[in-house]
Amino acid sequence: MVKSINQLRPKFTTNADGSDAVLFMHELVGEEDGPTIGISAAIHGNENTGSQAILELFNLLKDMPIKGRILLLPVANPSAFAVNERYATIDKVDLNRQFPGNPRGTYSQQLAHALTQEFFNVIDVHIDLHSGTDRPTVDYVYIWNDEGLSRAFGSKLLYRPVENKQGTVFGGTTKSVTLDKRNIPVSVIELGGGILDQTPYIRRTVDGVLNMLRFKGAIPGDMAPQPKQIVVNELAGIRPSQGGWLEPLCPANGEVIKGGQLLGRVVSPYNFDVLEEIATPFENGVMIMQHLTRNLVQSGDYGFMVGNLDGATD
Ligand SMILES: [Zn+2]
Repeated sequence: MVKSINQLRPKFTTNADGSDAVLFMHELVGEEDGPTIGISAAIHGNENTGSQAILELFNLLKDMPIKGRILLLPVANPSAFAVNERYATIDKVDLNRQFPGNPRGTYSQQLAHALTQEFFNVIDVHIDLHSGTDRPTVDYVYIWNDEGLSRAFGSKLLYRPVENKQGTVFGGTTKSVTLDKRNIPVSVIELGGGILDQTPYIRRTVDGVLNMLRFKGAIPGDMAPQPKQIVVNELAGIRPSQGGWLEPLCPANGEVIKGGQLLGRVVSPYNFDVLEEIATPFENGVMIMQHLTRNLVQSGDYGFMVGNLDGATD
């Protein structure tokens, strides 16, 4: 069973209101030796579906026989999380572009440094939970350096980025300290979001992560059967060029969208004009991210993501 459960709260700075800025981690130590698996969420503060899944995972894992150690980081970016923003309001920079961080840098760079020291440098496997925000809804898993681990999550759609292709490589992400520097197995999950009950996404995340832990031998049990999976090598992110009501016209995530079909349109809430019709970019596409309700967007907000089925593999 679990040998010990510990709350780890390393302090990394003092806030101007006098409170300690700390990382919140939960360590579950198994009776048997094995690798440390790190599971993190909400590195972008407005992506809280994964944080909810980690809460549920903790309640299940604490009563399970664990091999090795599981380190849970439910809220990687607390000050952004508290105000449902992507970035910390103190410096408004993307925490997931600041790694390995700097103890004498801006607030987010200090946080990145603490996360590198206390979390990323001590784990042997990284499962990173991202999601849509309270507007767009997303559904895919990245394949980086451990295809089996990514497939074990059980998503129907996976994405293998082509290195050096414009738009797929970002400096300073968590990957720079896990995959690039230490080459530990990494899997990034993008699931959930939208003005919807998150329960189905939370359930899928919990089931998927438990299956990944079985794949790594951290918990006992047989692997769940996989659905038919598609791996795309090309993703297009499409942003509305006009602000207003973004009205979805596309099929559900995971469904095929053919060339010429509309993803959605932007309608003015003021004069009711159609300001923009947004077409899918590929002849043979698959829906990966979209707005499921008529949402207010700014010009340039996250709109849709479509995978290219031409060149996709099983
Ligand atoms: Zn994210």
